[in-house]
Amino acid sequence: MLRLKSCTLSLSVRAMLRVWLVVCILICTSTAHAAKELAVTIDDLPFLYGRYLPDSVESERFRDILKILRKHDVKVIGFVVGSRIDARRGQLLDEFEAEGHVVGNHTFTHPDLNTTSVDWYNDDIMKCEKAIEKWVHEAKYFRYPFLHQGPNETKDLGVARFLAAHGFTNVPVTIDNADWHYNKEYAAALKGRDSVGVDSIGRAYIVHIQEMSGRFDSLAVAKLHRDVKHILLIHMTELNAVYLDQLLTWYEEQGWKFITLTEALTDPVYQMQDSYIGPNGMSWLLRL
Ligand SMILES: [Zn+2]
Repeated sequence: MLRLKSCTLSLSVRAMLRVWLVVCILICTSTAHAAKELAVTIDDLPFLYGRYLPDSVESERFRDILKILRKHDVKVIGFVVGSRIDARRGQLLDEFEAEGHVVGNHTFTHPDLNTTSVDWYNDDIMKCEKAIEKWVHEAKYFRYPFLHQGPNETKDLGVARFLAAHGFTNVPVTIDNADWHYNKEYAAALKGRDSVGVDSIGRAYIVHIQEMSGRFDSLAVAKLHRDVKHILLIHMTELNAVYLDQLLTWYEEQGWKFITLTEALTDPVYQMQDSYIGPNGMSWLLRL
């Protein structure tokens, strides 16, 4: 009798272990196959430092980026600096929109909230909205220049409340990086006809974005114990007109899936209260 009971017990323990093993395998498999997700956002449209390239070259670089996005089937949001729009660049924004990309507000003159008043800054936002109204439809998205959201509580709340009252969604960034800096070096090397420099800066840029993607993805998992729907910030630059193709290919090879901004913003991480008030621009993950 006793022997029979112990045998029954061991059978049921074995059955439970088997079930547990199956559950573990299922969890591990689903985690291993869960793709990292990424929305691509591009700042400083129509074109970063738009005054230094001849018009035709600038238009060509802009269209090169459109071509790369089309090749990888990536739909992005472009944050526009309103004062930089003229007839030619307006045409580029028409083409951008026709490809299915979304236009957002990046202020009229790209001011730094650290050094401007709240009222002046908010006026600048509205001037941009007027300049881009042709391309803004369902939702109003805003990106702070330099990711500076206010060096003190008065400025932080003064702009945040203004944005909320006027129906804007602030679009934070999880994968912050220095692509603009690499572009500056790249443009200088191009100007100096330094082909070795051009090439090595391009390769260093790719490595930089790879490192920052890994770093912020690890930070998200460490802080939230799960994957987040990432938002990458890059700029509309000469550098990306050449290297964005390689960059997007790398993400694809690593198993990342491109999503739209709307999809990314469904992640509850973007509803969390950030705890940082200060002069620095940074990843949303560091603000939490
Ligand atoms: Zn900017």
